[in-house]
Amino acid sequence: MSDEANVIPSMPCPHCGYVVTRSTLGIGDGESPPNEGDISLCIECGDLSEFTAENGTVTGLRKLNAYQILRVLMAHPQVGNVSKEIKAGRSSRKT
Ligand SMILES: [Zn+2]
Repeated sequence: MSDEANVIPSMPCPHCGYVVTRSTLGIGDGESPPNEGDISLCIECGDLSEFTAENGTVTGLRKLNAYQILRVLMAHPQVGNVSKEIKAGRSSRKT
């Protein structure tokens, strides 16, 4: 994974509202910009979203349904582990 994350159009996380401005692919080459349908793991809340696009340019994020989340976690169990770590860190920061 590259230290230099891709700058993307600012878009809010549909779960927590954190404004996403960069992305790094944890799965793949780690440097390509996201495409429509790629999965986002929010570094703030740890929830999964999907990139949406207009005319080939990513423009936003939307929540996944339960079936989509299950498919991601079955194909890439490490995503679930990272999500849990982010959520655990978030809850410990609140207390
Ligand atoms: Zn979030």
